[in-house]
Amino acid sequence: MRTLIRGTAVIGAGGEVTPAMDVVIEGNRFASVVPAGRAQGPFDRTIEGEGRILAPGFVNAHTHLAMTLFRGKARDLPLMRWLEEEVWPVEQKLTAEDVRWFSLLGLVEMIRSGTVAFADMYFFMEETAQAVEEAGLRALLSYGIIAPTTDRIEPELRKAGDFAREWNGAAEGRIATALSPHAPYTCLPELWTKATGLARELKLPIHTHVAETEDEVQRMRAETGRSPVEWLEGLGAFSVPTLAAHCVHVSEKDCDILAAHQVTAVHCPSSNARLACGIAPVADMLKAGVNVTLGTDGPGSSGSLDLMREMRLAALLGKLRQQDPQAISPEVAFSMATQRRAAALGWGNEIGTIAAGRLADGILVAQQGAHMVPGYNPLTDLVYSAVQADVRSVFVNGRMLMDEGRLLTLDEERITAKCRELAQRYR
Ligand SMILES: [Zn+2]
Repeated sequence: MRTLIRGTAVIGAGGEVTPAMDVVIEGNRFASVVPAGRAQGPFDRTIEGEGRILAPGFVNAHTHLAMTLFRGKARDLPLMRWLEEEVWPVEQKLTAEDVRWFSLLGLVEMIRSGTVAFADMYFFMEETAQAVEEAGLRALLSYGIIAPTTDRIEPELRKAGDFAREWNGAAEGRIATALSPHAPYTCLPELWTKATGLARELKLPIHTHVAETEDEVQRMRAETGRSPVEWLEGLGAFSVPTLAAHCVHVSEKDCDILAAHQVTAVHCPSSNARLACGIAPVADMLKAGVNVTLGTDGPGSSGSLDLMREMRLAALLGKLRQQDPQAISPEVAFSMATQRRAAALGWGNEIGTIAAGRLADGILVAQQGAHMVPGYNPLTDLVYSAVQADVRSVFVNGRMLMDEGRLLTLDEERITAKCRELAQRYR
């Protein structure tokens, strides 16, 4: 199967824009990217790319997909009260069927908003993995380990390890796995040491939450004399590739530690704003050499899985925090939203660049809407002006998942109806 996308503007991994290009997809890879009119046929299909932006597609580096179940449900509370009063009691009642359908619901939303890959930690992960297999996206999946007492350590590790072994490399290599101790405050030190050892043995990354609230940092300092980042480093947790969600309250010393160990910090601006956790010092982290990427966190706190919203908010809040309009440029916001900074999820630079030989993941965004006109700079428009409905087509591994707004792998009507029905139990 050879597909030509004709005469489209292409946004590169660093945000550079090349107008009027012909892009050929053959099998699961880009075969050629050449100036318009130069692509060599024949083609099985031609997609008109004029008035469109072809971009690498977004990477949501931290979420809990099945928490679409919680969308609009919980009150707006500080993190610990939100977890203890609104989330954990409901999660006790969750079933595998809930996770399956609410994962599918999240996948519909992610495809519609141009996400091609994501990192997810939750429960009943086999259900999420099967949903990913069906939907056609890429995902780094992990079982969320909670082990605040010694008796939980072995059973939780076994569960996490079994899932990670079984699913790593599944779905034509679209699924990778990680180990996920939930956070420093929900897992004992012994768990962290053992989980890191297992991650090293299985050659897997760790995906966790770090320094989300000031209260978390103060408690850890009071108990151990260290910040959560220092504490994790002391346990050797950063000796394997790590995705650290949030990093809202990190000191200069913490930033140096994160940079030295090449930890990927995942900035989740909507969730942090909604729970009033604070604004992560993204510009400072970048300056210190920390790799920063973006996530939505679960839709229970962010309200949405639309990574374009996070990209915009990251640019806006980053400027506001520094009181400097140049603190986070559109190019930097875009690179945080794509594979450029998300190598820790797997796939390295195999995806995230529209170039001959790379795996064919990408999105086509329409520039026709009034809010996108006159269209001087496609990248600036994509960061500050585009909305979910502008994403018209999405493909992963050369396979179309959405074609001109029509979902090809998932039955949206059936999924939304089923989720409404299942949610009755939680009203
Ligand atoms: Zn989270």
